[in-house]
Amino acid sequence: MEIILDRDGSACVWCGRPFEGLVAATTEHLVPRVKGGPSWLENEVAACRRCNRDRGHTTPGEWLEECERRGWRPERSIVVRTLESLEAAIAARGGLRRARRYVDSQLRRLRS
Ligand SMILES: [Zn+2]
Repeated sequence: MEIILDRDGSACVWCGRPFEGLVAATTEHLVPRVKGGPSWLENEVAACRRCNRDRGHTTPGEWLEECERRGWRPERSIVVRTLESLEAAIAARGGLRRARRYVDSQLRRLRS
């Protein structure tokens, strides 16, 4: 968790609320485990408990749009950067065919 907060800053990647008081940091998988996402740092962002729970298995692209619809300011650039580093990590380590497809489709969506 410390590594992720150092990398991304000490606020929820989805709603932007700083982690303090009642807003607790949780580790969230961009590619959900049920979609083949690995438990690697490259697949993890820091999210508050509420966003982690509310997102469920929604894709990062859909959830970013939902956050914006709610008037929040999600850190789109951190999501894209993390997906890009996951794409590179999968390419280097091999395997994870399902996660790779998921990342590719999300990056296409987020870059369009
Ligand atoms: Zn949040």
